[in-house]
Amino acid sequence: MRNGTSHLFVPGPTNIPDAVRRAMNVPMQDMRAPDFPDLVLPLFADLKGVFRTDNGSIFLFPGSGTGAWEAAISNTLNRGDRVLMSRFGQFSHLWADMAGRLGLDVECLDVEWGEGVPVEEYRRRLDADKNRRIKAVFVTHNETATGVTSDVAAVRAALDDTGHKALLFVDGVSSIASIEFRMDDWGVDLAVTGSQKGLMLPAGLGILAVSPKALEAHASSTIERCYFSFEDMKAPSETGYFPYTPPTQLLLGLRASLDLIFAEGLDAVIARHHRLAEGVRRGVHAWGLNLCATEKKWWSDTVSAIVVPEDVDARQVIANGYSKYRTSFGAGLSKVAGRVFRIGHLGDLNEVMCLSALAAAEMSLRDAGAKIEAGSGVAAAQEWYRSQIGLAAPNL
Ligand code: PLP
Repeated sequence: MRNGTSHLFVPGPTNIPDAVRRAMNVPMQDMRAPDFPDLVLPLFADLKGVFRTDNGSIFLFPGSGTGAWEAAISNTLNRGDRVLMSRFGQFSHLWADMAGRLGLDVECLDVEWGEGVPVEEYRRRLDADKNRRIKAVFVTHNETATGVTSDVAAVRAALDDTGHKALLFVDGVSSIASIEFRMDDWGVDLAVTGSQKGLMLPAGLGILAVSPKALEAHASSTIERCYFSFEDMKAPSETGYFPYTPPTQLLLGLRASLDLIFAEGLDAVIARHHRLAEGVRRGVHAWGLNLCATEKKWWSDTVSAIVVPEDVDARQVIANGYSKYRTSFGAGLSKVAGRVFRIGHLGDLNEVMCLSALAAAEMSLRDAGAKIEAGSGVAAAQEWYRSQIGLAAPNL
């Protein structure tokens, strides 16, 4: 007999609000019905608001963030194109790997895991690229593996200052709809996200926002593409009908999640993520532990990767959480396996949920041999949340 609920604190898939779950629990609909566009067309208009773009076009693929990565590359670049990327965690690593496998000439900067995009080095390389061989610059806005947020606006400034016309690609899978992201203001050309993080849905949608400049590049790009081709996928935003069977339940869920985000207000959603994240960070520091993100400027408001003491195995912390306390934490991936565990604090979350994450993490850490004071992290976060509650819009 298992009472109560389990607790999900992985940085995606995130908790699904009841309203979203209910919206998806409906009989199957006719995807060719005359009123199907009434559901589909407003989704495209509203997603523009989430990416903060007036000029961009939205593409919605049944797939995941990885599919959206591939769609971004294969629709706008050519085999052999040089691209400037940086790698500082599992997801930035995987995107660079994909770029190589799709035939791009990847100039990849290896950065310490715990830091983010090396903007000054990008600037130097862009400036040195007198023959303009670099066709695109890539930024993993929020590296989910290490809890590091990079400065997209600064990369735009580096492009502008050097007069470089390369396309700017951004992976916003774990930032969009939870951390400040401004497609038009930052001159982003291809922004990529998935449905299972800030949008609080199951996995299953790869979502892109594409600038007019990227659409121009699309016209002359020759990488083979079929399922992910923009040509085929521009129909839904124009007609409301998909070229193949759409995941209707996910679209209904997306409607409900966008309604929730706009009812709270995107700015308020972003502020809430900051407030919640700060409580988690205070808890971690009260334990005497550090984040994987080496400096405050890199701290992520959607996920904290926590470095465990030398004599503790983070895998044991995660196993304890799951088997003893029915609480899921994110694993340390690849290079940081065993060294970090992650608390995802994004999506449908509030203060007390974050306190329960810290409480479960404290028990799991102590069970794994960490010498941290029981209750210390929870207490520090409580004090932060109490100090903030008068300032915040009521989250009722
Ligand atoms: N990019 C980032 C930053 C991610 O966190 C993830 C998944 O966690 C991905 C890309 C890949 O997305 P998906 O798992 O939806 O394919």
